[in-house]
Amino acid sequence: MTQLSFEFPDGKVKQFDAGVDIKSIAKSIAISLAKKAVAGKVDGQMVGVNTPLNKGGKVEVITSDSKDGLSVLRNTAAQLLKAALHDTYHDDIKFGTNGAYDDGFYVDTDKKENQVSADELQPLSDKMNKMIKHNVPLKRVILSKADALNQVDGDPYQAKLVNKFASNDQVAFYQINDYMSLANGVVLPSAGSVKYFKLLSVAGAYWEGKSSNPMLQRIYATAFVKKVDLDADVKKRQEARERDHRVIGNKLDLFFVDPKVGQGLPYWMPNGATIRRVIERYIVDKEVAAGYEHVYTPVLMNLNAYKTSGHWAHYRDDMFPPMKMKDGEELELRPMNCPSHIQIYNRHIRSYRELPLRIAELGMMHRYEKAGALSGLQRVREMTLNDGHTFVAPDQIQDEFKRILNLMVDVYHDFDISNYHFRLSYRDPKNTTKYFQNDALWNKSQKMLKGAMDDLGLDYVEAEGEAAFYGPKLDVQTYTALGNEETLSTIQLDFMLPKRFDLHYVGKDGKDHQPVMIHRGIVSTMERFVAYLIEMYKGAFPTWLAPKQVKIIPVSLDKHGDYAKKINAKLRKLHIRSEVENRSEKMGYLIRDAQTHKIPYTLVVGDDEMSNNQVSVRQYGHKDSKDESIDEFVKQIQKDIQSYSRH
Ligand code: ATP
Ligand code: ZN
Repeated sequence: MTQLSFEFPDGKVKQFDAGVDIKSIAKSIAISLAKKAVAGKVDGQMVGVNTPLNKGGKVEVITSDSKDGLSVLRNTAAQLLKAALHDTYHDDIKFGTNGAYDDGFYVDTDKKENQVSADELQPLSDKMNKMIKHNVPLKRVILSKADALNQVDGDPYQAKLVNKFASNDQVAFYQINDYMSLANGVVLPSAGSVKYFKLLSVAGAYWEGKSSNPMLQRIYATAFVKKVDLDADVKKRQEARERDHRVIGNKLDLFFVDPKVGQGLPYWMPNGATIRRVIERYIVDKEVAAGYEHVYTPVLMNLNAYKTSGHWAHYRDDMFPPMKMKDGEELELRPMNCPSHIQIYNRHIRSYRELPLRIAELGMMHRYEKAGALSGLQRVREMTLNDGHTFVAPDQIQDEFKRILNLMVDVYHDFDISNYHFRLSYRDPKNTTKYFQNDALWNKSQKMLKGAMDDLGLDYVEAEGEAAFYGPKLDVQTYTALGNEETLSTIQLDFMLPKRFDLHYVGKDGKDHQPVMIHRGIVSTMERFVAYLIEMYKGAFPTWLAPKQVKIIPVSLDKHGDYAKKINAKLRKLHIRSEVENRSEKMGYLIRDAQTHKIPYTLVVGDDEMSNNQVSVRQYGHKDSKDESIDEFVKQIQKDIQSYSRH
């Protein structure tokens, strides 16, 4: 028999008969290893634990407790789900791709008439459990391409996958009971080990991720080796779901994104728009007080500006394609506001006396983010950045940096944001060639940034090699509900754009000098910031941000409706966002409904209140209510609004 030679990770080489499998190879090392083996790798290629091998190479045994082992378990679970789906819907269901990923596994489906709904997951889960209980085998069967196409006849997605997966006229399937499932990844030999899984949710997903393709229904699920891990994961998901800005955004009617009218292009409903407007007014006022000049500049710009800035050369993939106009002008939807603010700087000859010159804007920009990366308001394709560029003389960098930092810390405090950390990013000292060339400026400015952080007594992490190629930066890192780290605020020094756009100011010496530019965003884009706040506050916004601040509920619409309207008019005149409940439901329901919508104050008005010129006030999250005169209530809510915080 032909002998195959296998090299183990420790460098040892052993010979085995052709047709040997990973299980036997593992057994030759230790019985315990063979017991834990769930798959293997030969020359980096995953193979099943029982698959006969006819080629030697570098071999690795994959055990259930490794990352690869977990993905084998999840691939198996995905195949069982496919089998359960087929068993339920027979030829009425077609399959897209399936597979394992970091957070679990999924199967894409296309069911005749109605797509699979969340209600159908439990019976599917029961079917999978039955297969697991009976330790049903997943028998690997190799078919010729023609037979494989025959096998998946009537399913255009699977047929396309057969063509993609076929190699040497061979296509692998797994036979599960009487169902032949196209193989996609290595699986366990039988169902028994998939004990701890959970079918989680369903959501639309385009075939091959392209919006021009049909929308399939993706079933999301997860599986673990140990029960404790599954339980912890389910709990974490539950908590994340309660915070997820997309879920809350929907419940509180804040915004929506509809792929039919544009992926990554959010619509702000009145409630969400109100939150955004409050933030916009707040930050503009704050910046004007801090010495910024707010401007408006166009979202469209001649492409040449982006050629000069270098974005066209380095950032083109993230930009929308230029619009070629009839007269030959090429217009670009801006992906950044910097070149626009440079035009404002360059409009006049600048003197050293004007520096630092702080130009700011709520600047709308467009970035062609990958469809798969889009997420609610967190990552969108049209966004409005709380942008600002300050133009400074080189010796003003440190002071200006400190001023921006102080502004940032101040703003964070107003929003009650405390879970963040600073990251100072330097150029890579081992590879300075890929950065803007000016060693002295880099060294000096990196020292200045660090010095400023130390002077202010702020903690930070240092990240070598994380700087932009045009200068060092400071990022403020926060976390999303799903635990992902994301950048909220940023301060970036830029030595390059002033050079490319040939910016100058007249110095004390009467000569021309080049300023340094500082790009800074305090509250980030309105989109990302609102997403962040929704998750942080779990939708229960402090009064100053709440879209509806007061709900007035008349005990009887007929008897107390006018009194309620009178109070409402008074509050609105004082710029308090109040509204009258005009549905005639039961009082208990209406109060609960106001709480569900997380409205900070609910005022109930009935006979007693009306005759005493009072309101019965219930604050969000409090059980009891309290009678107050209208003036007392106004004082209370105004104080609350001005305090910028619930606490
Ligand atoms: P990221 O690494 O998140 O893609 P970036 O480094 O490209 O961001 P900048 O060009 O510095 O970001 O943009 C400024 C800020 O705008 C970012 O810090 C981030 O908070 C926000 N932002 C960037 N891209 C998006 C987007 N697609 N949707 C919403 N907000 C965004
Ligand atoms: Zn900029």
